[in-house]
Amino acid sequence: MALDTLTLLNDLSDAFGISGFEDSVRERLEPLVRPLVDDVRTDTLGNLIATRRGSGPLTLMIDAHMDEVGFMVSYIEPNGFLRFAPIGGWDPRIIPSHSMTVMTDDGRPVKGVVGVPPPHITPPADREKPHKMEDLFIDIGADNAAAVAEMGVRIGSPAVIAYPFESLNDNLVCGKALDDRAGCAVLVKTLEALQGEALDLTVVANFAVAEEVGLRGAQTAAYQIDPDIALAIEGTIAADTPGTIPARQPTGFGKGPAISVLDNSMIGNPRMVQALTSIADAEGIRWQYKVPAPGGTNAGAIQRSRAGVLAGVVSVPCRYIHSPLSLMRLDDFENTVRLVTSFARKGGRQLNLPSSK
Ligand SMILES: [Zn+2]
Repeated sequence: MALDTLTLLNDLSDAFGISGFEDSVRERLEPLVRPLVDDVRTDTLGNLIATRRGSGPLTLMIDAHMDEVGFMVSYIEPNGFLRFAPIGGWDPRIIPSHSMTVMTDDGRPVKGVVGVPPPHITPPADREKPHKMEDLFIDIGADNAAAVAEMGVRIGSPAVIAYPFESLNDNLVCGKALDDRAGCAVLVKTLEALQGEALDLTVVANFAVAEEVGLRGAQTAAYQIDPDIALAIEGTIAADTPGTIPARQPTGFGKGPAISVLDNSMIGNPRMVQALTSIADAEGIRWQYKVPAPGGTNAGAIQRSRAGVLAGVVSVPCRYIHSPLSLMRLDDFENTVRLVTSFARKGGRQLNLPSSK
């Protein structure tokens, strides 16, 4: 039976998994992909690698990262408050006053709040200034450091701002970790669409760890997979919102998957860009170029693996990534699945690659 897209997105977005702590994301993905592929395994760093064997000699790696941006407890105050460090890229201005979930070693969530003093006791001059990361703390209601330890929280405990996934209307969803659980869901739906089909390319789906801290999992996964071609699938920045000029809007809602030409980690291989746009046009899939913006992707790490890999990036537009909640349109998601699936079917021929390395 086909996997319900909303249930899939909900389960993946709500899973706890900051960089380095992706276990529960992988535990949700593994049983979903196992029936869709010939082989699944987990490597030393925690990448989940799922292989669909094709009849030809070429391998396509499709990659999405399991980790989400979050926090790590960095110091416990004697009076029971928790100091924390950002894991991945955060704007400190948007963290205050959110609820925070700290995870214990045995997987118990401990809830708290990033407290800020109310305006009554804040001097007027200070109200104009944004809070700095080093001034913030999590309040879990513990009286002292011993009580914190008793609750199972220690230096190194991971944390997220955890709001549950929600469907806002028929075509709009919001969740805490659409970057990049949306990409993980694209991979699952692509494997599902390819099920039972004779494939020319061997398709290896890599659900990567530790992207947000420097493309780390994809680097070791690419070495093992040794692909000829690779696509990184991202939930990327949609910024078609008030106050942002079009030239600074990496992508927009409703315009379909975004094809990258340049980011901080790579120059999109022109042959890959051409193959992707040709396939999208031939299939009648709405697509957009991503307007180059700061930030890197796993394609940058994969491209430089071994003797080099033809790599590209396809992204689902998501508004407000790297924040407590981001938004995504389901039509953009579906069109991204269609493009990645079509590329898995035709990408090898479209690129006109030699039949072996
Ligand atoms: Zn991402």
